[in-house]
Amino acid sequence: MPELPEVETVMRGLRARLEGHRIARAAAHRPDLRWPIPPGLGRRLTGARVLSFRRRGKYILMRLDGGDSVLLHLGMSGRMLIERAGRNAVTPHEHLVLETDEGWRVGFVDPRRFGSVDLVPTAQEDAHKLLAGLGPEPLDAAFSVASLSASLVGKRTPIKAALLDQKIVAGLGNIYVCEALFRAGISPQRSAHTISGARATRLVPEIKATLTEAIAAGGSSLRDYVQTNGELGYFQHAWKVYGREGEPCGRCPGKPVCQGIRRLVQSGRSTFYCSRVQR
Ligand SMILES: [Zn+2]
Repeated sequence: MPELPEVETVMRGLRARLEGHRIARAAAHRPDLRWPIPPGLGRRLTGARVLSFRRRGKYILMRLDGGDSVLLHLGMSGRMLIERAGRNAVTPHEHLVLETDEGWRVGFVDPRRFGSVDLVPTAQEDAHKLLAGLGPEPLDAAFSVASLSASLVGKRTPIKAALLDQKIVAGLGNIYVCEALFRAGISPQRSAHTISGARATRLVPEIKATLTEAIAAGGSSLRDYVQTNGELGYFQHAWKVYGREGEPCGRCPGKPVCQGIRRLVQSGRSTFYCSRVQR
């Protein structure tokens, strides 16, 4: 499931091909994904010039010269494919296709249809129902030791669950929360309200560093953020704990002191951690 760094690299890939260009052709092939797709979307996009892009949490906003923004969410399985225009056949599960005046074809493919496509007036982006409740951007100065501590006061949920709550901080998902908690030496099971003072002071910079490094990895491993198969974003990244159950954590001296990385299920999702490093 794409998290903030993947969404950021997908957005940068779209920006590289679309910004400043006119949409020569657009078509939606379904009336809905997770939510209804605006009726007549293809007609409304055709002829519009793409002014700029913005990411908010896991959402991508594509601003058009007519005063509207296209709001995109990749859901669980959404992918953006980019290729030279000229193919009329539609890829399976391709729900939206755009072609630019420069001859690029962009397709939004989402087999599980948890993604979304909507239109919102650019001046009111942040009032859209999917964006209005989002917490601060983790890479903005507004996400700080003070702001995180304040939002966790009285919260008895595990810190892992609290960081996945998009109202507390926007854009984090399972992988990056596991990684940041490991780097900060904080147990995923620790009650959220105890994250203040020294623990918050360790955690916030590790969240920012984890995300920044992943975005940089996407930028350095992909040309124009495009994979060789034409898929935008995503990249190979070496996780420190995620998906590494049973391996040495790299911080401990090893057995018998450390039993290696453990997996536990929290809120239906796997958490990977080292019980010796993370308290
Ligand atoms: Zn360890």
